[in-house]
Order: sequence, then structure tokens, then C-alpha cells
Amino acid sequence: MTPITYELIKTDKQTGARLGRVHTPHGSFDTPTFMPVGTLATVKTMSPEELEQIDAKIILSNTYHLWLRPGEEIIREAGGLHSFMNWKGAILTDSGGFQVFSLSDMREITEEGVYFRNHLNGDKLFLSPEKAMQIQNALGSDIMMAFDECPPYPATYEYMKQSVERTSRWAERCLKAHERPEEQGLFGIVQGGEFEDLRKMSAQDLVSLDFPGYAVGGLSVGEPKEVMNRVLEFTTPLLPADKPRYLMGVGSPDSLIDGAIRGIDMFDCVLPTRIARNGTCMTSTGRLVVRNAKYAKDFRPIDEHCDCHVCKNYTRAYIRHLIKCNETFGFRLTTYHNLYFLVKLMKQVRAAISEDRLGDFREEFFERYGFNKPNAKNF
Ligand SMILES: [Zn+2]
Repeated sequence: MTPITYELIKTDKQTGARLGRVHTPHGSFDTPTFMPVGTLATVKTMSPEELEQIDAKIILSNTYHLWLRPGEEIIREAGGLHSFMNWKGAILTDSGGFQVFSLSDMREITEEGVYFRNHLNGDKLFLSPEKAMQIQNALGSDIMMAFDECPPYPATYEYMKQSVERTSRWAERCLKAHERPEEQGLFGIVQGGEFEDLRKMSAQDLVSLDFPGYAVGGLSVGEPKEVMNRVLEFTTPLLPADKPRYLMGVGSPDSLIDGAIRGIDMFDCVLPTRIARNGTCMTSTGRLVVRNAKYAKDFRPIDEHCDCHVCKNYTRAYIRHLIKCNETFGFRLTTYHNLYFLVKLMKQVRAAISEDRLGDFREEFFERYGFNKPNAKNF
């Protein structure tokens, strides 16, 4: 019996988006939802208490990074990742695959697994389906991800086909190697790039293995937005309606809304936290680069329509000053606001689904945000 279950509450009559709830050993969360990324067992600059304040229910951590530092055995000894970092909500861990394929240029893919170099010190390392399961079992995350191959965009049809077949064989090995199926749910990852028949093949292979949830992988890797939307349109209907669906690596407001419209329930991305540390904020009227000179004497909040702790108490001028001086507190304030903004956006999306008006909500949001303008600056 899997510890991860999904409850479909209703679908939006305008768009078909799903309102649901995912149950985990560390609480339930409503979907569609955005998961803040805590790569090294911390969502950079945010305390777990602050994450609770903004109503984040699930965060993501990176297996590859925690494997290298501090090592999964220390985390196991601490009683798992939740107790190590003092986070009471749910945790999803990735498999390490994406980091191996994106951070390391020295790699060799074999049927057994992937040989590559540690991005910190150049040591030779090996990651396989079995190893990725062993690390995630030690971390004790609520949701684990299968070890897959993430081909670059664009990839040829032939390469992608071989890669999909290997990812299916690896998924089977992951299931066999998973030692704590009663406590941790393992999700399969559908690959296949932009090729409809390969997505279909991948989905069929993985659905036959009966995972408690499925991710759509291999998107948000540099393809145009139209390609992502098209791939989602033909991929999500291939997945079982009674399991959660997770779109990996997507966090711009427009893509969250468009992903939900195409049947996605869960998203994660470093975008809101990364741009925050650059002095860029997401606001209800578009992006605002608070470090710009024009905000030096602007004593309004980052977003006049935001009711977060930061917008209630601090001005653009003050935050700009802190960021220009590289003061840690400035990065904390922009990070807090950006995460609050996305968590709240997903609440608005859920409210719109429950009222059968997500299509209208999208139009209003895109208009206000400036996504409808030609040459609109995307994130
Ligand atoms: Zn705010």
C-alpha cells in the first residue's frame, strides 16, 4: 500500500484543470500546488517556520547535492531529512539524474548507470537506479523520484527513443530497489521529448508499473513555451486520473497557470528564489527589478496588492538599498515575497477551478501581468 494518495475534487468546466488533494505521511496539500526548492536541505534564506507562515506544505530537496554534502548517512542518523532540517511538512526528493546531466560535462551513460565527475572536486562518481533509491530511502522523503535519463533539447528521434526505453528499464529497477514502499511513495517520470509516440510509449511503460504518481520530465529544458504546452496536451491524458501529475522544473506564473490548465497538479522550480537573490520580484502587475535605480526613493511596497509580511512592512527603497549592499536581509525579503506570491497564485488558481472560471482568471492575470503584450518579458 502506497503512502501517497490523490483525491480528485473537481475539474474546471472552462479548462479541464484539476482541483485535488495529495495525502502524504507528513500532511496533505491541495493541488495544483507549487513546491519551493530547498536544494541543500534549506530553501535558501527561508527558515522552516517562515515556510509554514507562507503556507507552503511541501518542499523539494535535491538528492545529488545531499549525497555529496553532508552525505545521506548523516541524514539517516539524524532521523531523516524532516528531522535533520526541522521541517514538518512533506518533502519530495528528485533522483539526482537531472543534476548529473546538467551540472557535469564529464559523463558516460551505460545501461548500468551514469559515470560522471563531482562538480565540487572533480572526483569520479557513479549513480544508478539502485544508488538513487538507496540515497532517497536514507533521506526519508515522502515522495521519491525514479532515476531517469534527461536528454538535452533538442535531441534526435533515434536518441530519444533509446533513452525512453532505458528510462523504462531503469524505472523497473527503481521499483525493485525501493526498500521503504510503505513509508515513501515513488513517482515515475515520463520522457520522450517533443515526440508524441515516444511520450505515449513512455507513459504506457510507466503506467503498467503502477507508480503512485507520475512526473512529466524533459520539459523546461530550453524548448519554446508552445512546445511545452503541446507536449502537455498530449501527455497528461495518457496518465491515470486517480494519481497526481507533476511537471518538473516549472515556476514562472504563466507556465504554472498553463500547466494547471493542461492537467498538472504539482510544480517546482528554483526560479522564484533564484531571481529573488538577484533583486527581481514577481508582482501582480509583472516583474519588478527592485535593485534598479528608479526605486531608490520609492517608499511603496514591492507589490501594492500583496498582503505578505514583507509588503506590509518594508519599502522598495529599503529593500533596494539592502540588495545593493549585498545585505543578507534584502535577499530574505525578496525570497519571502516571491514564494508567498507563487503560493498565493496557486490558491487563486484553485479558487478559480472551484468556481469553474480558470479560463477567465488566466485572461485577467495575463492582462494584468503583461503576458499578453507582444515582446512581453517572460521569466
Ligand atoms: Zn509581498
